[in-house]
Amino acid sequence: MYLVATPIGNLEDITLRALRVLRECDLIACEDTRRTRQLLTHFEIHGKPLVSYHEHNEAERAAELVERVRGGAKVALASDAGTPAVSDPGYRVVQAAVAAGLEVVPIPGPVAAVTALAASGLPTDAFCFRGFPPAKQGQRRSLFESCRDEPATLVFYEAPHRIVASLRDLLATLGDRPVAVARELTKLHEEFLRGSASEVLATLEARDRVKGEIVLLVGRGEASAAAPELPLEQRVQELIDGGASHMDALKQAARERGLSKREAYRLLEGSK
Ligand code: SAM
Repeated sequence: MYLVATPIGNLEDITLRALRVLRECDLIACEDTRRTRQLLTHFEIHGKPLVSYHEHNEAERAAELVERVRGGAKVALASDAGTPAVSDPGYRVVQAAVAAGLEVVPIPGPVAAVTALAASGLPTDAFCFRGFPPAKQGQRRSLFESCRDEPATLVFYEAPHRIVASLRDLLATLGDRPVAVARELTKLHEEFLRGSASEVLATLEARDRVKGEIVLLVGRGEASAAAPELPLEQRVQELIDGGASHMDALKQAARERGLSKREAYRLLEGSK
């Protein structure tokens, strides 16, 4: 089972290996057969059998695809754009293939979240990808709130008709953090808006309409940005002073530094 990443806009962003796998496979499972057929036609790959899988039939299709691979077929899984299974169907098929003991071979390529992050100018040392925020305001605010202390750049996918509402909710919950909006990546009208949440919001509010595909990135808050600079012991004390139990303080400080609780405990003991 091959997981084939396809372009997120610019058709030149497909790897030689992806093209070879698409050319050599026996069957391509894709979201929308018309979209994938267009891609294949562009690269002069003709006559490939295509089957569609999507949110509603993925579980059923997964079993069929696993059977095909077991029977010796080379199956390629693609989505409409970017990397399958990333905010796209594919996870269930991969899960079924792994459970059946099949080899799952990723063919890497574009993924909008990482493409946007790399050029955002926001810290790339740690990032937290949260997919699409919920459409309902209350749920969206809760999601942002739950990300407050994440010691990482936050990455979201957002629909153009919701980006202004999302930025307003972001401002209301997490304050005026540095943000980047990456729009239409790799396409003709590619655009990056960088600045504080209020600045980027003002720019987008001034437009009649926001169009295109969007990745929203949010810099970490001051507390979590400063946290990793502090020695472990001081950070734990700071959290305890802020009302956390010793265990919770240790857990959070460990998480911020990418340590296990046991490793953090050992370090603390060693520094005494
Ligand atoms: N599997 C894809 C990937 O690897 O990035 C993501 C698919 S998800 C259904 C589609 C969302 O990804 C869009 O709504 C947008 O938020 C983001 N996206 C995809 N292509 C993009 C592009 N060219 N520019 C900006 N965002 C993009």
